[in-house]
Amino acid sequence: MIKEIKGLHHVTSMAADARQNNKFFTDTLGLRRVKKTVNFDEPGVYHLYYGDEVGTPGTVMTYFPFAHMMRGRPGVGEVGETQFSVPKGSLASWKERLAAQGATDLEVDTTFGSDRLRLQGPDGDGFALIETPDDTRTPWTGAGVSENAAIRGFSGARLRLHDIAATAELLGFMGYERAETEGNVTRYVIPGGNGADTIDLEALPQAAFARQGAGSVHHIAFAVEDRAAQLKVRKALMDTGYQVTPVIDRDYFWAIYFRTPGGVLFEVATNEPGFDRDEDTAHLGTDLKLPTRYEPYREKIEAQLVPLTD
Ligand code: ZN
Repeated sequence: MIKEIKGLHHVTSMAADARQNNKFFTDTLGLRRVKKTVNFDEPGVYHLYYGDEVGTPGTVMTYFPFAHMMRGRPGVGEVGETQFSVPKGSLASWKERLAAQGATDLEVDTTFGSDRLRLQGPDGDGFALIETPDDTRTPWTGAGVSENAAIRGFSGARLRLHDIAATAELLGFMGYERAETEGNVTRYVIPGGNGADTIDLEALPQAAFARQGAGSVHHIAFAVEDRAAQLKVRKALMDTGYQVTPVIDRDYFWAIYFRTPGGVLFEVATNEPGFDRDEDTAHLGTDLKLPTRYEPYREKIEAQLVPLTD
């Protein structure tokens, strides 16, 4: 069994409009943009990262905004809900704030004993704010969100699957422990995690497969401390029969990817070196950062990107 995984590292999704995406995460949810770079495989597209002050693993929501991309069609084989941790008693103020900004699809319920506010992102993205007692992570308090309401980071993610058995087995191998089942959703928790500790598996045997597009989660990444831990995880997964990519340098972390039995793309990313490797903490997310190989094409790349408003 793998013991190196410490919860989620980041969640990466797709959007249709970079400015709208930036505004939603910074102005509406009050996160900090911690990096403005490009999709390393398609440098004419931004890769935007939002999180706490320094982009601590377990807080980082990232986006590829492909201009005018069609919306995804929700279904199985994908992450259906990305869950953010907020303090106990804060949902009423969030509901008010989101409604004041025009959100109309807000639903409050209870899940695994916690109050949850479900909301949609600009492209119909499935999000939830979950009241989590005793989350000791220090939040970023941007855009007038008070410290007693601000997002602490992810609490976890909910995956929609035809059948949960094979993914459940994989999570067990990755070090997750089965917690409770509520209806058709079973919760798995990583012991000793970074706060982004839960993965919920939702069984939907009759549902159609998702079609990825704007508003869809592209992949979820799990955190490991360093490259040595990542190599251990890679070997363990490959010894179990998973097809895992070689280690890829993403400038701010090292990444490996593998497709899970239920269809969801998983990544394992290192906590090192972090987002302050090429900008100081005070200016994270300000300038357009390019991987070295694209620097010679900076002017051309910048011309393809819409300027963000801040
Ligand atoms: Zn990733």
